[in-house]
Amino acid sequence: MEKETLYYDFHLHSCLSPCGDADMTPNNIVNMAKLKGLDAIALTDHNACGNCRAIMSAGEREGIIVLPGMELCTSEDIHIICLFATLDGALGFEKEIRATMPVVKNRPDIFGDQLILDDEDNIIGNEDGLLIVASGVGVDNVLSISRGFGGTAFPAHADKTSGGIIEILGAIPREAGFTSAELSPLCDVPSFIAANESLGGLRIVRDSDAHYLWDISERKNSMPVEGRSLSEVVKYIDCCR
Ligand SMILES: [Zn+2]
Ligand SMILES: [Zn+2]
Repeated sequence: MEKETLYYDFHLHSCLSPCGDADMTPNNIVNMAKLKGLDAIALTDHNACGNCRAIMSAGEREGIIVLPGMELCTSEDIHIICLFATLDGALGFEKEIRATMPVVKNRPDIFGDQLILDDEDNIIGNEDGLLIVASGVGVDNVLSISRGFGGTAFPAHADKTSGGIIEILGAIPREAGFTSAELSPLCDVPSFIAANESLGGLRIVRDSDAHYLWDISERKNSMPVEGRSLSEVVKYIDCCR
């Protein structure tokens, strides 16, 4: 089958993340991604999927593939990007993660608002519980839980000190089973891979981790997929399935 090249950015925060800019609304994100010439994006708020429904609907209108996702904070304070082939899968995963999270009330004056929007960018809710906390899920279990909901998972910004798996554990543990790893936009990829043996054989994903509209990736990172669908993206990233 002919492969298709998808230009992507699979690590984006909306205004549901306390650190995400108020302008990171479902429609603004989709429209900026379109302006940048991206084919596929994912919404990955901290420990939450509350704006996934709205952005998927906005993406559908504009002809951009939008994967529902989450940037999970593990019990070790490691950030993992979890992506799903369906909204139901993402919401089921979210429910399971929430059950392991400590209940801490958000202080918007300190951490920022956590807004839930509809697909017309109207505010329809406010998340009360602080989302930037460590969940109770250990890093070795994230991939198998994600797969159970028809998704996949890979370490976020593995080259960074804050929330980066290599900084925290010294390496990407084999037991975690990851097939891919994300490196941040400023990473010198060849030398980072050369210096970190545990990245060997993993698919490298490059995302922006945008919290502001202007940080969304340019049309420069691409992946070859079998077709333009959410499940093909998940399959490509989870290449050992
Ligand atoms: Zn992060
Ligand atoms: Zn992030």
